[in-house]
Amino acid sequence: MARFIFITGGVVSSLGKGLASAALGALLQARGFSVRLRKLDPYLNVDPGTMSPFEHGEVFVTDDGAETDLDLGHYERFTGVPARKTDSVSSGRIYTNVLEKERRGDYLGKTIQVIPHVTNEIKDFIAIGEDEVDFMLCEIGGTVGDIEGLPFFEAIRQFGQERPRGQCVFMHLTLLPFIAASGELKTKPTQHSVKELRSIGLAPDILVCRSEGPIPEKEREKLALFCNVRPDSVIAAQDLKSIYEAPLAYHREGLDQAVLDAFGISPAPKPDLRVWEDVADRINNPEGEVKVAIVGKYTQLEDAYKSIAEALTHGGMANRVKVKVEWVDAEVFDREDPAPHLEGFHAILVPGGFGERGTEGKIKAAEFARTRGVPYLGICLGMQMAVIEAARNLADLGDAGSEEFDHEAGKKRFTPVVYHLKEWVQGNHKVERKVTDDKGGTMRLGAYDAVLAEGSKVAEAYGDVAIEERHRHRYEVDIKYREALEKQGLLFSGMSPDGRLPEIVEVKDHPWFIGVQFHPELKSKPFDPHPLFRDFVRAAKDNSRLV
Ligand code: GLN
Repeated sequence: MARFIFITGGVVSSLGKGLASAALGALLQARGFSVRLRKLDPYLNVDPGTMSPFEHGEVFVTDDGAETDLDLGHYERFTGVPARKTDSVSSGRIYTNVLEKERRGDYLGKTIQVIPHVTNEIKDFIAIGEDEVDFMLCEIGGTVGDIEGLPFFEAIRQFGQERPRGQCVFMHLTLLPFIAASGELKTKPTQHSVKELRSIGLAPDILVCRSEGPIPEKEREKLALFCNVRPDSVIAAQDLKSIYEAPLAYHREGLDQAVLDAFGISPAPKPDLRVWEDVADRINNPEGEVKVAIVGKYTQLEDAYKSIAEALTHGGMANRVKVKVEWVDAEVFDREDPAPHLEGFHAILVPGGFGERGTEGKIKAAEFARTRGVPYLGICLGMQMAVIEAARNLADLGDAGSEEFDHEAGKKRFTPVVYHLKEWVQGNHKVERKVTDDKGGTMRLGAYDAVLAEGSKVAEAYGDVAIEERHRHRYEVDIKYREALEKQGLLFSGMSPDGRLPEIVEVKDHPWFIGVQFHPELKSKPFDPHPLFRDFVRAAKDNSRLV
């Protein structure tokens, strides 16, 4: 039977609750426990799949094909435990489930209410698979006091009450603002936040306080007294240079010890933190620097490409270099020659994306990388653009394009080198889609196998010819152009096992030019960098010696 840790936040959003949860997960693992992390989001969307990256940052895709919150990415990167569909839920999903049950008549004529029906649905979700792990960490999205969050707070209150004593621990994350004029860290917002929690029946066992500097003893005692927690359960979370220092920093502050104490686990098993010491060493002591351009559309918002930025950092760690990322707006290339914008970079990455805006610029970026011998990694849309570039400029298909853009424009303008995929195989069954399908959850989602060509660059990177990677796309490179493109040196070096769907292309006689239909960034970890990001950064490093 698992022990449960509920993580809530107060005062302001974006305090790093997801990161604190992930780091705690890693620390519990370091002490020999198994963990699973979960995110409960109060918003009403059924999942973040249909939300714009401007709204919600990246959509993180799980192996089993769920489109989830980007915090699940942090969880995976810190614990290495692959997230599942059942690790992310929103109010929208909970209410959909409740209303479906109501329509089916499952509630036997009862009046359906937030308490108990919605809260029961939330509690059932929290408990899924509880026998599999030692600790289940459940993070509640948003901040205490949000109207949408109330059913979740009520559900975890009930959960804690229904379970045997000592099975649940509540951790609350707040902010200690520093007021420069008085030179003080202020505890009042935290006191109010805890008061708010207590008014709905929740008493935190542990307070994690974000602050710029250390918490002086006086403030720590004050927090403990006014918030009714033990002084050694007031944990300082100071700003860090890198998120990957978080496990060691939280350990030094005593977070894992405080959690084990709160559960009464004594003596606590000793932690083995060597993995995180090595990670911190690689982050803090790079031996050089490479510059990588990410040519994309959502460049204002780094969270839109969170996993890519992290995977590049991991690739840097593997090569002991710092990867300096610059975001280049693809639309600039609609008007300007890309060369002066891209010449200073050691490598170019074109990430995934949706819609036509910015795609001509991405095609130009791919052309620049191909013709100048600059390392290129194209992910999903970035692979599709590389194929269109080769079709237009090498295979005499001047009007090559993607059906996605024709659908968007409502008229036919391109030869569909990339077409709308309506049928594919998943495991041992066939999946079918129509153009008119709903937008939510209807893409080719989740883990699929691919077979790599012997002797290809990708096979060399993976050290294998059988791989499994996560997908999130609706459109697909048309196999019928394979021969024409391969003749021109664009090799289809990775295919779906049935040989019908191009998964990877690479340019022959190029230092490193790879396009992948899947999202390798989702599986990269600081302690286990993804092979494609490792080799992409290595190619950038080799190139930096030449530039
Ligand atoms: N828009 C493209 C498609 O649906 C690419 C998707 C992506 O980059 N994730 O196929």
